[in-house]
Amino acid sequence: MNIEVAGLNVFYGDFHALHDVSLSVPSGSLTGVVGANGHGKSTLLKAICGLLPPKSGQITQDGERIDGLSAPDLVARGIVHVAEVRHLFPDMTVRENLMLGAYQKRSGARVRAALERVFDLYPRLAERQTQAAGTLSGGEAQMLALGRGMMSEARFMAIDEPSLGLAPVLTETMLDTIQKINAQGTTILLVEQSLSLIADRVSRTYEIEEGKIISQDHSCPKPEGIS
Ligand code: ATP
Repeated sequence: MNIEVAGLNVFYGDFHALHDVSLSVPSGSLTGVVGANGHGKSTLLKAICGLLPPKSGQITQDGERIDGLSAPDLVARGIVHVAEVRHLFPDMTVRENLMLGAYQKRSGARVRAALERVFDLYPRLAERQTQAAGTLSGGEAQMLALGRGMMSEARFMAIDEPSLGLAPVLTETMLDTIQKINAQGTTILLVEQSLSLIADRVSRTYEIEEGKIISQDHSCPKPEGIS
Protein backbone atom coordinates (compact mmCIF):
# COMPACT_ATOMS: atom_id res chain seq x y z
CA MET A 1 0.00 0.00 0.00
CA ASN A 2 1.41 3.34 -1.09
CA ILE A 3 0.81 6.35 1.18
CA GLU A 4 1.51 9.88 -0.03
CA VAL A 5 1.33 13.02 2.08
CA ALA A 6 1.33 16.38 0.31
CA GLY A 7 1.42 19.85 1.82
CA LEU A 8 0.03 18.77 5.18
CA ASN A 9 -0.69 21.45 7.79
CA VAL A 10 -1.89 20.54 11.28
CA PHE A 11 -2.72 22.94 14.12
CA TYR A 12 -3.41 22.55 17.82
CA GLY A 13 -5.54 25.64 18.33
CA ASP A 14 -3.29 28.50 17.18
CA PHE A 15 -0.13 26.38 17.35
CA HIS A 16 1.06 25.37 13.89
CA ALA A 17 2.45 21.86 14.54
CA LEU A 18 3.06 20.61 10.97
CA HIS A 19 4.11 22.95 8.13
CA ASP A 20 3.51 21.83 4.54
CA VAL A 21 4.75 18.31 5.23
CA SER A 22 5.13 16.11 2.16
CA LEU A 23 6.45 12.58 2.10
CA SER A 24 6.04 9.25 0.32
CA VAL A 25 5.81 5.85 1.88
CA PRO A 26 6.22 3.50 -1.09
CA SER A 27 4.36 0.22 -1.13
CA GLY A 28 6.24 -2.46 0.78
CA SER A 29 8.79 -0.02 2.18
CA LEU A 30 10.02 0.49 5.70
CA THR A 31 10.22 4.29 5.76
CA GLY A 32 11.65 6.22 8.70
CA VAL A 33 10.87 9.63 10.18
CA VAL A 34 13.39 10.96 12.68
CA GLY A 35 13.55 14.08 14.78
CA ALA A 36 13.94 15.30 18.34
CA ASN A 37 11.22 15.32 20.97
CA GLY A 38 8.32 17.66 20.36
CA HIS A 39 9.07 18.37 16.67
CA GLY A 40 5.90 16.82 15.26
CA LYS A 41 6.59 13.15 14.62
CA SER A 42 3.64 11.84 16.63
CA THR A 43 1.41 14.55 15.17
CA LEU A 44 2.30 13.38 11.67
CA LEU A 45 1.45 9.74 12.41
CA LYS A 46 -1.82 10.71 14.08
CA ALA A 47 -2.84 12.89 11.14
CA ILE A 48 -2.13 10.09 8.65
CA CYS A 49 -4.15 7.61 10.72
CA GLY A 50 -7.22 9.84 11.10
CA LEU A 51 -6.65 10.74 14.76
CA LEU A 52 -6.09 14.46 14.10
CA PRO A 53 -7.79 16.47 11.37
CA PRO A 54 -5.37 18.32 9.07
CA LYS A 55 -6.16 21.96 8.32
CA SER A 56 -4.97 21.55 4.74
CA GLY A 57 -3.06 19.19 2.51
CA GLN A 58 -3.73 15.77 1.05
CA ILE A 59 -3.15 12.21 2.15
CA THR A 60 -3.65 9.48 -0.42
CA GLN A 61 -3.71 5.70 -0.24
CA ASP A 62 -2.81 4.16 -3.60
CA GLY A 63 -3.87 7.41 -5.24
CA GLU A 64 -7.19 7.75 -3.42
CA ARG A 65 -7.80 10.65 -0.99
CA ILE A 66 -8.12 9.47 2.60
CA ASP A 67 -7.67 12.69 4.60
CA GLY A 68 -10.89 13.41 6.43
CA LEU A 69 -11.71 9.73 6.97
CA SER A 70 -12.11 8.57 10.57
CA ALA A 71 -9.61 6.29 12.27
CA PRO A 72 -12.05 3.32 12.26
CA ASP A 73 -12.65 3.81 8.51
CA LEU A 74 -8.89 3.85 7.98
CA VAL A 75 -8.40 0.71 10.09
CA ALA A 76 -10.98 -0.99 7.89
CA ARG A 77 -8.79 0.00 4.91
CA GLY A 78 -5.74 -1.57 6.62
CA ILE A 79 -4.21 1.68 7.94
CA VAL A 80 -3.28 1.21 11.58
CA HIS A 81 -1.68 3.47 14.17
CA VAL A 82 0.44 1.49 16.60
CA ALA A 83 -0.33 3.37 19.75
CA GLU A 84 2.30 3.89 22.35
CA VAL A 85 2.41 1.42 25.16
CA ARG A 86 0.47 3.66 27.49
CA HIS A 87 -2.60 3.16 25.30
CA LEU A 88 -2.88 -0.50 26.23
CA PHE A 89 -5.58 -1.54 28.69
CA PRO A 90 -3.61 -2.58 31.78
CA ASP A 91 -6.44 -4.40 33.57
CA MET A 92 -7.36 -6.51 30.58
CA THR A 93 -5.41 -9.65 29.71
CA VAL A 94 -2.85 -9.83 26.95
CA ARG A 95 -5.27 -11.86 24.85
CA GLU A 96 -8.13 -9.40 25.43
CA ASN A 97 -5.90 -6.51 24.38
CA LEU A 98 -4.99 -8.41 21.23
CA MET A 99 -8.63 -9.19 20.46
CA LEU A 100 -9.39 -5.45 20.58
CA GLY A 101 -7.28 -5.16 17.45
CA ALA A 102 -9.66 -7.60 15.78
CA TYR A 103 -12.85 -5.76 16.68
CA GLN A 104 -14.08 -5.56 13.11
CA LYS A 105 -16.46 -8.26 11.99
CA ARG A 106 -14.30 -11.01 10.62
CA SER A 107 -14.52 -14.78 10.52
CA GLY A 108 -13.23 -16.70 13.52
CA ALA A 109 -10.74 -18.46 11.24
CA ARG A 110 -9.18 -15.16 10.17
CA VAL A 111 -8.95 -13.93 13.74
CA ARG A 112 -7.33 -17.22 14.81
CA ALA A 113 -4.84 -17.01 11.94
CA ALA A 114 -3.92 -13.44 12.91
CA LEU A 115 -3.50 -14.48 16.55
CA GLU A 116 -1.26 -17.35 15.49
CA ARG A 117 0.89 -14.95 13.46
CA VAL A 118 1.28 -12.68 16.50
CA PHE A 119 2.17 -15.61 18.78
CA ASP A 120 4.65 -16.94 16.19
CA LEU A 121 6.45 -13.62 16.14
CA TYR A 122 6.11 -12.99 19.88
CA PRO A 123 6.07 -16.36 21.73
CA ARG A 124 6.37 -14.36 24.94
CA LEU A 125 2.83 -13.03 24.42
CA ALA A 126 1.52 -16.56 23.94
CA GLU A 127 3.05 -17.54 27.28
CA ARG A 128 1.49 -14.53 28.98
CA GLN A 129 -1.86 -14.35 27.21
CA THR A 130 -3.94 -14.74 30.38
CA GLN A 131 -1.96 -12.16 32.39
CA ALA A 132 -3.11 -8.59 32.83
CA ALA A 133 -1.33 -6.32 30.34
CA GLY A 134 -0.33 -4.07 33.24
CA THR A 135 2.00 -6.78 34.56
CA LEU A 136 4.11 -6.92 31.38
CA SER A 137 7.65 -5.55 31.18
CA GLY A 138 8.30 -2.56 28.91
CA GLY A 139 9.52 -4.78 26.07
CA GLU A 140 6.57 -7.14 26.34
CA ALA A 141 4.11 -4.24 26.40
CA GLN A 142 5.68 -2.89 23.22
CA MET A 143 5.28 -6.35 21.64
CA LEU A 144 1.63 -6.26 22.66
CA ALA A 145 1.12 -2.84 21.05
CA LEU A 146 2.57 -4.19 17.79
CA GLY A 147 0.65 -7.45 18.10
CA ARG A 148 -2.59 -5.53 18.44
CA GLY A 149 -1.76 -3.72 15.21
CA MET A 150 -1.17 -7.06 13.50
CA MET A 151 -4.57 -8.30 14.70
CA SER A 152 -6.17 -5.56 12.59
CA GLU A 153 -4.61 -7.15 9.50
CA ALA A 154 -2.76 -3.91 8.89
CA ARG A 155 -1.41 -3.32 5.39
CA PHE A 156 0.13 -0.04 6.57
CA MET A 157 1.41 0.51 10.09
CA ALA A 158 2.46 3.85 11.55
CA ILE A 159 4.68 2.95 14.50
CA ASP A 160 5.55 5.63 17.05
CA GLU A 161 8.90 5.28 18.83
CA PRO A 162 8.93 1.56 19.60
CA SER A 163 12.27 1.99 21.39
CA LEU A 164 10.75 4.24 24.05
CA GLY A 165 11.79 3.00 27.48
CA LEU A 166 13.54 -0.11 26.17
CA ALA A 167 17.10 -1.20 26.89
CA PRO A 168 19.32 -1.21 23.76
CA VAL A 169 19.28 -4.99 23.34
CA LEU A 170 15.47 -5.10 23.56
CA THR A 171 15.24 -2.22 21.11
CA GLU A 172 17.21 -4.21 18.55
CA THR A 173 14.94 -7.24 19.03
CA MET A 174 11.90 -5.00 18.66
CA LEU A 175 13.26 -3.47 15.45
CA ASP A 176 14.05 -6.99 14.14
CA THR A 177 10.41 -7.97 14.53
CA ILE A 178 9.26 -4.75 12.87
CA GLN A 179 11.46 -5.68 9.90
CA LYS A 180 9.85 -9.13 9.88
CA ILE A 181 6.35 -7.62 9.82
CA ASN A 182 7.53 -5.46 6.91
CA ALA A 183 9.05 -8.47 5.11
CA GLN A 184 5.69 -10.25 5.42
CA GLY A 185 4.13 -7.50 3.29
CA THR A 186 3.10 -4.65 5.61
CA THR A 187 4.21 -1.18 4.54
CA ILE A 188 5.63 0.63 7.57
CA LEU A 189 6.21 4.24 8.58
CA LEU A 190 8.49 4.12 11.61
CA VAL A 191 9.17 7.10 13.88
CA GLU A 192 12.26 7.28 16.07
CA GLN A 193 14.30 10.04 17.65
CA SER A 194 17.65 8.80 16.47
CA LEU A 195 18.58 8.06 12.86
CA SER A 196 21.44 5.78 13.91
CA LEU A 197 18.93 3.41 15.48
CA ILE A 198 17.10 2.73 12.23
CA ALA A 199 19.46 3.84 9.43
CA ASP A 200 20.44 0.32 8.35
CA ARG A 201 16.87 -0.97 8.51
CA VAL A 202 14.90 1.57 6.49
CA SER A 203 14.79 2.19 2.75
CA ARG A 204 14.26 5.95 3.10
CA THR A 205 14.20 8.48 5.89
CA TYR A 206 12.79 11.93 6.44
CA GLU A 207 14.04 14.28 9.12
CA ILE A 208 11.53 16.54 10.83
CA GLU A 209 12.34 19.71 12.78
CA GLU A 210 9.87 22.20 14.17
CA GLY A 211 7.11 20.59 12.16
CA LYS A 212 8.95 20.79 8.82
CA ILE A 213 10.70 18.13 6.76
CA ILE A 214 14.26 19.44 6.65
CA SER A 215 15.96 16.58 4.82
CA GLN A 216 15.28 13.30 3.13
CA ASP A 217 17.47 10.40 2.17
CA HIS A 218 16.38 7.80 -0.36
CA SER A 219 19.76 6.14 -0.59
CA CYS A 220 19.48 3.90 2.45
CA PRO A 221 20.85 0.38 2.04
CA LYS A 222 17.64 -1.60 2.22
CA PRO A 223 15.90 -1.99 -1.16
CA GLU A 224 12.25 -0.98 -1.33
CA GLY A 225 9.74 -3.79 -1.73
CA ILE A 226 6.84 -3.89 -4.14
CA SER A 227 4.08 -5.59 -2.16
P1 ATP B 1 7.51 13.20 21.13
O1 ATP B 1 8.59 12.31 20.72
O2 ATP B 1 7.72 13.90 22.42
O3 ATP B 1 6.13 12.60 20.99
P2 ATP B 1 7.04 14.47 18.64
O4 ATP B 1 8.14 14.83 17.71
O5 ATP B 1 6.24 13.28 18.32
O6 ATP B 1 7.60 14.39 20.10
P3 ATP B 1 4.54 15.87 18.80
O7 ATP B 1 4.03 15.07 19.94
O8 ATP B 1 3.99 15.59 17.46
O9 ATP B 1 6.12 15.77 18.72
O10 ATP B 1 4.35 17.42 19.16
C1 ATP B 1 4.67 18.45 18.25
C2 ATP B 1 4.35 19.77 18.90
O11 ATP B 1 2.95 19.88 19.09
C3 ATP B 1 5.00 19.96 20.26
O12 ATP B 1 5.43 21.29 20.36
C4 ATP B 1 3.89 19.67 21.23
O13 ATP B 1 4.05 20.42 22.42
C5 ATP B 1 2.66 20.13 20.46
N1 ATP B 1 1.48 19.33 20.83
C6 ATP B 1 1.37 17.98 20.76
N2 ATP B 1 0.15 17.58 21.16
C7 ATP B 1 -0.54 18.69 21.49
C8 ATP B 1 -1.85 18.95 21.98
N3 ATP B 1 -2.72 17.96 22.19
N4 ATP B 1 -2.19 20.25 22.22
C9 ATP B 1 -1.32 21.25 21.99
N5 ATP B 1 -0.06 21.08 21.54
C10 ATP B 1 0.33 19.82 21.27
